[in-house]
Amino acid sequence: MLSSQDALFADIRSAVRELCTRFDSAYWQRVEQNNVFPEEFVDALTKAGWLSALIPEAYGGAGLSLSAASVIMEEINRSGGNSGACHGQMYIMGCLLRHGSEAQKARYLPAIARGELRLQAMAVTEPTTGTDTTRLKTTAVRNGDRYVINGQKVWISRVQHSDLMLVLARTTPLAEVKRRSEGLSVFLIDLREALGRGLSVRPIRNMVNHETNELFFDQLEIPADNLVGEEGKGLRYILDGLNAERILIAAECVGDGYWFTERARRYAGERRVFERPIGQNQGVQFPIARAYVNVEAASLMRFEAARRFDAGESCGAQANMAKLLAADASWEAANVCLQTHGGFGFAAEYDIERKFRETRLYQVAPISTNLILSYVAEHVLELPRSY
Ligand SMILES: Cc1cc2nc3c(=O)[nH]c(=O)nc-3n(C[C@H](O)[C@H](O)[C@H](O)COP(=O)(O)OP(=O)(O)OC[C@H]3O[C@@H](n4cnc5c(N)ncnc54)[C@H](O)[C@@H]3O)c2cc1C
Repeated sequence: MLSSQDALFADIRSAVRELCTRFDSAYWQRVEQNNVFPEEFVDALTKAGWLSALIPEAYGGAGLSLSAASVIMEEINRSGGNSGACHGQMYIMGCLLRHGSEAQKARYLPAIARGELRLQAMAVTEPTTGTDTTRLKTTAVRNGDRYVINGQKVWISRVQHSDLMLVLARTTPLAEVKRRSEGLSVFLIDLREALGRGLSVRPIRNMVNHETNELFFDQLEIPADNLVGEEGKGLRYILDGLNAERILIAAECVGDGYWFTERARRYAGERRVFERPIGQNQGVQFPIARAYVNVEAASLMRFEAARRFDAGESCGAQANMAKLLAADASWEAANVCLQTHGGFGFAAEYDIERKFRETRLYQVAPISTNLILSYVAEHVLELPRSY
C-alpha cells in the first residue's frame, strides 16, 4: 500500500526499510516477551548512522533536515517496529547543539555521532507536578565548582541504555522569580558517574515494552561545567526542542497509521466469512478507508511542520497540530485494524495488540492531547489562557 508521500526521500525510505527487515515480527515479539531493550536494533540503526541524522556534518553527523529525519522514524514504525527505544537520540541532542558551549559540543556531539556515547534520556516530568513543569521541585544548588541536585523525576525513559541525560531543575526558587518560567536550568548528567553516587533508578513496569523509570536525586554532585547554556533559561531551551520532538513523534504515529491500515486492508481482502471477503462489506471497508484518509492528512501536516522547521520559520502551531492529528489518526487506525481482525487481532502473533498498546501511548506522551488543544486554543485562536 502506498502513501502519497512515498516519493519524498525515497532513498532514505528504502534504506531504512531494508534495515528494518532484519528486525521482523519475531524479533519484536521476542524483546517484548523477554521484557528487554531492543539493543541489536538500536545498535544497527546507530551503526548505519540513522540516529545521528540531525547532528551537523561539522560534528560528524549526517546533517539531514528534520523532514528527512521524520521519514526515518516513520519507516521504523511503518515496518512494525517501535521507535520509542531510540527516538530520544534524535532530538535530545538538539538542546546541546543549540545551547551548549563549544567545549560541550566538541566533547559530546562527535562521540554521539560515532555511536560511542548515547544521549537518549531527558528528565523533565515529576511525580507531584506532572504537566505543570514550572512548578517542578527538583533543585540544583551551586556550590563552588559543582552543582548539587536533589529531587525526584518520573517516567524517564531509556536511562538504563544511555550514557548521558539532560535534567531540568530549579536553580532559583519559584518565590524569587518574576515569571514562573524563569529560574529553571538544564544540566548534562553523565549517568556512568552519577548512578549509585547520588542518583538511583527504579524501573516502572508499564503497558508497553518501554524502558522508563523513577529517578531519585540525593545530593548528586556534578561539575558546574555541565550546566547547558545560561542558568535560569532552561525551560526555554527545553521548549525550543519540543517542535522537533513533536514532528518526529508525529512521523512515528504516521508510520503506525500506515502499518495498521495496510494490515487491515490485507486481512480484509483475505479473510472470507459468509462466502465473501470481509472487505467486500462496506461496514468493514469504510472504516479502513477513513483511517487511511486521516493518516494521509496527518502526514501532510507533519511535512508542512517539518518544512517550516527546516526553513527556520515558526512552526509551533503546525508541530503541535501534526502531533495531535497523527496521534489521533494512528489510534483510529489501530482500533479499525483490531476490529477488522476480529478475534485474531487479540492474538500476540499478529503484532496488532502490541502495536495497539504502543500507539496508544502517543495520546499521553510526550505530551497529552489536552495540552496540545490548550496550546492551539491559546496561541493560535487567541482564547484566554486556561492555566
Ligand atoms: C511510557 C512513558 C514514557 C515517558 N518518557 C518520559 C521521558 O523520557 N521524560 C520525561 O520527562 N517525561 C516522560 N514521560 C512523561 C510524560 O511526558 C507525561 O506522562 C505527560 O506529559 C503527562 O504528564 P502526567 O503523566 O504527569 O499527567 P498529568 O499532568 O497529571 O495530567 C493527567 C491528565 O490530565 C490532563 N490535564 C492536566 N492538566 C490539564 C489542563 N490544564 N487542561 C486539560 N487537561 C489537563 C492531561 O492531559 C492528562 O490527560 C513519559 C510518560 C510515559 C507514560
